[in-house]
Amino acid sequence: MANLVWFRSDLRTRDNTALAEACADHSEAVLGIFLLAPDQWREHDWAPVKVDLILRTLAELSRDLAALNIPLIVRECGRFKHAPGALLDVARSHGCRALYFNREYEVNEQRRDDQVRKVLAAGGLEIHAHDDQTAIPPGAVVTQQGRPYTVFTPFKKAWIARMVDRGGPVIRDVPVPRPAMPREPDPVASEARGFDGLKRPDLWPGGESHALRRLDDFVSGRIAAYKQHRDIPGVNGTSTLSPYLAIGAVSPRQCLRAALDANAGGFDRGNPGCVHWISEIVWREFYKHLIVAFPRLCMGRAFKFETERIRWREDPEGFGAWCQGRTGVPIVDAAVRQLLQTGWMHNRLRMVSAMYLTKDLFIDWREGERFFMRHLVDGDLASNNGGWQWSASTGTDAAPYFRIFNPVSQSRTHDPDGTFIRQFVPELASLDRDEIHEPWTIPALARAPLDYPARPVADHAASRARVMDAFRAIGTGDPSRADR
Ligand SMILES: Cc1cc2nc3c(=O)[nH]c(=O)nc-3n(C[C@H](O)[C@H](O)[C@H](O)COP(=O)(O)OP(=O)(O)OC[C@H]3O[C@@H](n4cnc5c(N)ncnc54)[C@H](O)[C@@H]3O)c2cc1C
Repeated sequence: MANLVWFRSDLRTRDNTALAEACADHSEAVLGIFLLAPDQWREHDWAPVKVDLILRTLAELSRDLAALNIPLIVRECGRFKHAPGALLDVARSHGCRALYFNREYEVNEQRRDDQVRKVLAAGGLEIHAHDDQTAIPPGAVVTQQGRPYTVFTPFKKAWIARMVDRGGPVIRDVPVPRPAMPREPDPVASEARGFDGLKRPDLWPGGESHALRRLDDFVSGRIAAYKQHRDIPGVNGTSTLSPYLAIGAVSPRQCLRAALDANAGGFDRGNPGCVHWISEIVWREFYKHLIVAFPRLCMGRAFKFETERIRWREDPEGFGAWCQGRTGVPIVDAAVRQLLQTGWMHNRLRMVSAMYLTKDLFIDWREGERFFMRHLVDGDLASNNGGWQWSASTGTDAAPYFRIFNPVSQSRTHDPDGTFIRQFVPELASLDRDEIHEPWTIPALARAPLDYPARPVADHAASRARVMDAFRAIGTGDPSRADR
């Protein structure tokens, strides 16, 4: 009899709860399985650049598992609804007695897992589901009244207290090798059906070993200056670990442990860079907890019900310009082009470009959320939705609707010399550090013809007034009570 481990967004051998549990009895045979679901992934707007990273990471996982005498079986099941049948088939043909997996918290994923549970339990298998995607499981950090936190700062305080009670993040070891390999691993395809598009193995090397190197590299160097550099897109100041966290090539506990070790164990005191970085990992936890507490977030619904009454603009031309990085606002265009060319966008620019779409263009945040998912190598429903609803002022603990980013001020503050703009909008490279943020202000005679929009697609002042009116009309977030 063997244990079957179903890998999903946990593509690693170290600190993998389901794998560690399945291997607890050293004498038992263990098999791994991964189900390719390209039709479902397309419905979920997964980006080709992300699927490519998954496949390359899966190939390394298969080799790492083989070294433990755990063969990885790979099946294509098209959509989630075929997962129960595919798993039962493999479990039966390999004489498995139990299925182990780490929980995924999105609504469709939970429904799929409920079906898997039913079908496999009816087939006589034990089911072992584990919390692994977060350092503290969703539902375990609640207010004194037992409700989910909806504001980040008190959530973080309670989360840290809980983590300290637990003695910090506990890392599970790589399992010891099984006595023998029950069969050969399946080959891992290098392409998934229907995912032609951007691939950047140069920027996003696959595999757990690379993710750990990236973590080590960051924590032994750049983390110290993270607080100063994290908002400057022209500087390599952040960890760029998000793609690896999204597919589970590294765990949040490993990230926390590394940051805590670099900070003498301090969560909220010590080196400001470490403290700030830990806080960002807690933001990730916050958004994952929220989608479990409020499943409507996975179903295209706003957190703030009243904002469902906002009549966002239909503007195919404006949306098209934003999607191509041709709005005429250099920092916004550089941001979107970074996404299109690399599959990743700097956090400050995710906020700036999302604000521009939802406030200056007044286009529904769901359009931007989908566009990001379709292009992001780190696409993650909880964080993406959280970020978009924050920017659109429809989310919990979101930016108040009247605090609208001025893209030019953002540009001057976070890219003062235009270094980042020059990299992604080379048409503007000849402009000086003052002109580059708002090229439309350069007198026409002085301006050499540029292959760049002559003026922005939206007038910031007029757009601001439109947003204020629309939000006031639905009676949300009175500015006089803003800072409460
Ligand atoms: C509109 C919008 C959309 C976003 N979409 C995604 C997404 O699809 N996937 C995703 O992983 N992040 C998303 N984020 C959050 C954030 O922008 C990225 O996590 C971050 O830029 C990743 O870069 P990094 O790994 O260098 O982060 P670092 O600054 O090194 O932070 C470390 C880790 O903390 C987490 N983190 C950091 N900032 C945030 C945040 N604001 N919210 C949640 N987690 C955070 C990430 O896991 C990140 O890898 C989005 C933010 C916005 C505003």
